[in-house]
Amino acid sequence: MTTLKEQLEQRVAATTEWETRRQAGANGPNMAHLWVLACMDERMPVDEALGIRADTPVGGGDAHLFRNAGGIVTDDAIRSAMLTINFFGTREIVVLQHTGCGMLSANGHDLEKALRGQGIDVDNIPIDPSLPELTLDKGAFAKWIGMMEDVDKTCIQCVDQLRNHPLIPDDITISGWIWETEFRRLRAPDLNAPTRAVSQPTAASMGVKGKQPPRWK
Ligand SMILES: [Zn+2]
Repeated sequence: MTTLKEQLEQRVAATTEWETRRQAGANGPNMAHLWVLACMDERMPVDEALGIRADTPVGGGDAHLFRNAGGIVTDDAIRSAMLTINFFGTREIVVLQHTGCGMLSANGHDLEKALRGQGIDVDNIPIDPSLPELTLDKGAFAKWIGMMEDVDKTCIQCVDQLRNHPLIPDDITISGWIWETEFRRLRAPDLNAPTRAVSQPTAASMGVKGKQPPRWK
């Protein structure tokens, strides 16, 4: 039988480990040694979809969680993955995207047009105000927005991009998954699955006309 004194000592030690974990570098990883790249959509419950506890603070901490519009590979996603993989003990990457994504719901060219209509000079945008060295070529803005044509295709491509990136070591486990918003269930990305017929995996299935700016091949 453990005494209350022993239990309290363990609890204090665990709290100290939690608080100072990042100072331990690769020896103080998150619980599952995991980095998750996920869409920011409020309808996608990352913890439920992956069966982990990433958002829960104390007692959770399973993953470093990076969310952006679409859950796509961007320069900041690469930056974050590079840090957690190379310096903080992370050994696995999961990419999580979903049907009915806002990034399927409009054409990137139209979004660019709308911003231009508001008088914004999209050819001269500080992509990162603290890093003026990071610039877009003229005419690349619509592509930079990253609207998708097909979520399964994009998910597969994002996994490939991470797999082939020089800042991500070859022995890191990387997988991509699709959360079906309509059915609240997870599936592997699949370009031919019959199940796609009843979900919203493409911009066309969400009523978008025309081809997206050519970011996804
Ligand atoms: Zn989304």
